[in-house]
Amino acid sequence: LAKENGQNYFQFYVASVDREIRERKQLEKDLSGALNNHQFHLVYQPQVNLETRRIIGAEALIRWEHPQRGLIPPDEFIPVAEVNGSIVEIGQWVLDQACWQAARWASDGMPLRIAVNLSAVQLRQDNIVDDIMDTLTRHNIPAGRLELEVTETSFMTNLEDAVEKLKRLHRAGISIAVDDFGTGYSSLTYLKRMPVQHLKIDKQFIRDLLINEEDTRIANTIIDLGKSLNLTVVAEGVETAEQEYYLAQRGCQLAQGYFFSKPLKPREFEKFVASFHSKIMENNA
Ligand code: C2E
Ligand code: MG
Ligand code: MG
Ligand code: MG
Repeated sequence: LAKENGQNYFQFYVASVDREIRERKQLEKDLSGALNNHQFHLVYQPQVNLETRRIIGAEALIRWEHPQRGLIPPDEFIPVAEVNGSIVEIGQWVLDQACWQAARWASDGMPLRIAVNLSAVQLRQDNIVDDIMDTLTRHNIPAGRLELEVTETSFMTNLEDAVEKLKRLHRAGISIAVDDFGTGYSSLTYLKRMPVQHLKIDKQFIRDLLINEEDTRIANTIIDLGKSLNLTVVAEGVETAEQEYYLAQRGCQLAQGYFFSKPLKPREFEKFVASFHSKIMENNA
């Protein structure tokens, strides 16, 4: 009997691995047509200056509307796109779309900074710096209006190469943020050598900021590190007024999170900015 069960289990296991492989293959196949079939769009999450309570910029985040499966979150398909290389093309589309949007907003009297996530795979491309500069030129965007978010993994494969590219981008006027700071292989050597201007505290440390003492200490440490290295600190995933208050009085300069707004489609984003700023004026009146 045991032997039989073992065999059943084995067959079940093979079947489920087989299904996983097939699903992954299907996802890859669908992904390869997604760009041409216009299934991607960007949403924008406001970044708020905690001192002035003004919206100073927005992070652009990709969304995939799959014709059968509906919305597929980026955490599910970006890693696949990184492995098969299609992130290079998708990432270029994101950059192009975000710069187009930034140009429109600027011409409508809303000159916000746009933050775009740059995959480590994109940063490894030989032409990445020229491609980014060309995109800015094409949309007539000043480099100071673009921020690139990179994760610590970007520095790991080829530190020299990453330093050189980020320096060129920085010299051109683009600002660089370290995303999900504290979750990767954080090293102070990277921070010292990289032309980085912003640290983004990962949302996992913000979630229980006021409940878990360890998270409080980690957030405090990142804020202090930012202060001593003269980097702007951005808190991700701020969901409550208490978190906002704590971070503001502790000296964290910027924040984004559901407490202010979820990532929004452009039209909603514009409305949100207008109402957020008019509320501040009411409060100050
Ligand atoms: P990320 O760059 O760290 O983006 C922050 C994520 O936190 C976003 O998830 C955002 O929607 C979510 N978030 C913001 N505020 C809150 C909050 O208050 N609570 C909670 N629970 N979550 C919040 P999203 O949009 O699902 O993106 C996930 C990740 O996918 C991003 O993490 C980024 O690593 C990647 N990603 C998204 N768009 C792009 C892209 O255009 N290119 C690349 N390379 N990666 C992207
Ligand atoms: Mg990001
Ligand atoms: Mg992040
Ligand atoms: Mg992330």
